This record gives sequence, C-alpha cells and structure tokens, in this order.
Amino acid sequence: MIEQYIENLNIEEFQRDLIQWYDEVKRDLPWRMNRDPYRILVSEIMLQQTQVATVIPYYERFMKLFPTTKELAMADDQTLLKAWEGLGYYSRARNLRESARMIEEMGGFPETHEEILKLKGVGPYTAGAVSSIAFNIPAPAVDGNVFRVMSRVCCIFEDIAKAKTRKVFEAVVSEVISHEDPSAFNQGLMELGATVCTPKSPKCLQCPVKKHCQAYQQGIDDLLPVKTKANAQKKTKLVVAIVQNQYGEYLVSKRPETGLLANFYEFMNFEYPGEREPEEYLLEKLSPMCSKIESIQLIGTFNHIFSHRIWEMESYLIRIHTAYEEQVAENTYLWISEKQMEDYPLVTAHQRILKECKS
Ligand code: SF4
Repeated sequence: MIEQYIENLNIEEFQRDLIQWYDEVKRDLPWRMNRDPYRILVSEIMLQQTQVATVIPYYERFMKLFPTTKELAMADDQTLLKAWEGLGYYSRARNLRESARMIEEMGGFPETHEEILKLKGVGPYTAGAVSSIAFNIPAPAVDGNVFRVMSRVCCIFEDIAKAKTRKVFEAVVSEVISHEDPSAFNQGLMELGATVCTPKSPKCLQCPVKKHCQAYQQGIDDLLPVKTKANAQKKTKLVVAIVQNQYGEYLVSKRPETGLLANFYEFMNFEYPGEREPEEYLLEKLSPMCSKIESIQLIGTFNHIFSHRIWEMESYLIRIHTAYEEQVAENTYLWISEKQMEDYPLVTAHQRILKECKS
C-alpha cells in the first residue's frame, strides 16, 4: 500500500541530503549535550505541544532538580508540579515520574523500542524519538512536523486527523529512514518541519530536499497535509475570586487528586450559570463563608484555552477582614502569603489573573 508513496523517491539521496543539512544547521540545545536516554525522554515529553524556546529554561531547571531517574522517582507531587508549572498538560509530568519509577525498578533505562514503548505516557512518537536519538535504533518518530514534511515529499493525501493515518506515515518513514544514522535522520525531519517546511508558506527554495519533494514539484504544497477540523472546544464560563485578607494573604484550595489539573492550587471559582449579574452571583456564593467583605473589584475577563475546552473567567479581587475559619479548619481552603505562593503550584490560568491584579 505504501509503495505508491515511495516509488519515485531516491531514498539514499533523500537521506543524504536531509542528514547533511541537519548536521550543518542543528541547534545547540541542552538535551543534545549527550545521548543520555533519560535527558532525551524529558526533552521529548516537554516538547510535546510546547515550543523549543519555551521549553529550554524549564528543561534546565527540571534537570537540576531531577538530574537522574532516581531523584525524579522520589519527587513529591508538589515539587514535581511546581517544576512543571506553566508547561501545561500536567499528566505528562506525573507520567514522567511514573516512567522514572519503572526505570528504577528495571535497574536501568530500557534499550529496545518495544520496552521503551511500555514506559508510562510514552507513545509511538516518543518511543521512536528516544530509541533513535539515544540508541540509534531505526524506528519512526512521527510528530506533526513529520506528518507535514512526509505528506509533502511523498504526496500523501491521507487525513492526518484520523488515528489510523499514523500507521501509514510510520510505514513510510520505516522504509526511508537511514539505518546508518537514524538519530540525525529523525531529528532532521523534525527540524525541517519546524524551520523550513512550515505549515504556511514553506521556504521551498531554501529546502535541502526540494528536489525529492513531489508537492513542491507539482506546486501543491499548500494542499498538504490533509487535516479535517477537530470538534469545537467547549466553553465554560466561570467567576473567579481572588480573596485577600487584611494580612495580604490569598485564599486558595487544592484541586481534586484526579482529573484536569489534579492537585494544583487555585483561587475560589464557580461555574457561572448566567441569569443574573456575575458579581451578584459571586457574592451569593461567598456569603455563607464570608461575613465581612470590604471591597469587590472587577479585574477583567480572561480566557484560558486547553486542548478541548476554554475557561472564560470573569475575575474579581475581593478584600475581606475575616478568615474563613470553618473552611480553613476543614483544610478545604488555605491562606498563603505572597512568599509562600512560590511553593504552591497554582493553575496557570489563575497566575495570569493574579499578575494582572497586581499590575
Ligand atoms: S520543498 Fe517545500 S514543501 Fe517540500 S519538503 Fe521542502 S519546504 Fe516542504
């Protein structure tokens, strides 16, 4: 089935042109310092859904805190989430810790593609990337960049939004990957997709593989890859209250142990049902817990976009003079000072509101 895509491709020349180009342009990134599979695994997990420039400082801090799987395996939730705070998709951090625990139990990092694929949170792309970069195993690593480059080079019109399409691309890459240097080949494809073969206006004239690229030759690069639209994100309207007491402390609570943003801390917030003014609704929700509100001030409305949902948060600063004794006693809520805030992983959406509130 995949023969049709590669029959016109000179595989050896394609490998050579791609690898030569990659060797010339590759950036000096902290995870390319050596071939330590743990360092590569951490970078690949962080780079999912996040740009290289954003990841670098997080990566360096994370590696200082957890230089080996041993330290990561022992990390408590709060330290782990604090180290990951701002990167989003927090299940990635927990899975990474689970992988570190598995590796510790195994007595060392697994060295085959099949074993690496069994690590927690490691899918086909990450397993392929770690196998090829750390162990020189010729395994495909198909991410969004590779979908784009290979769909164009080989004119593959399969819908990349469909799960089964991954198999087609993995089969194509398995056929064309270099067995001498799978690491440079896979990284070259990713780098090409990130810097040259971009989603809009690819820089075809500068492209090292343009002579192999069928989409370029046919002038149809803008038609590829084919991707049908995902369902619209669900919007939830919330009212958020940054409650501050007379000592300048903020009231926070811990989110549940499972689900979205599990174990993170957040300001008080309530789903807004409409019907009446948000401020009136918020005061009604607060009244059983707070008798002495000194002031209420609108900070603004903020949107926070997750992969499948959007929080639309109308946010208020509420100054009060009394503590929420009952809730604090039940450990539902917690007063924390500005300084302590550094130790508590606060959901990113609320960090933004706090920043705006203080500006
Ligand atoms: S020639 Fe253009 S479309 Fe083809 S791989 Fe290069 S940048 Fe992408």
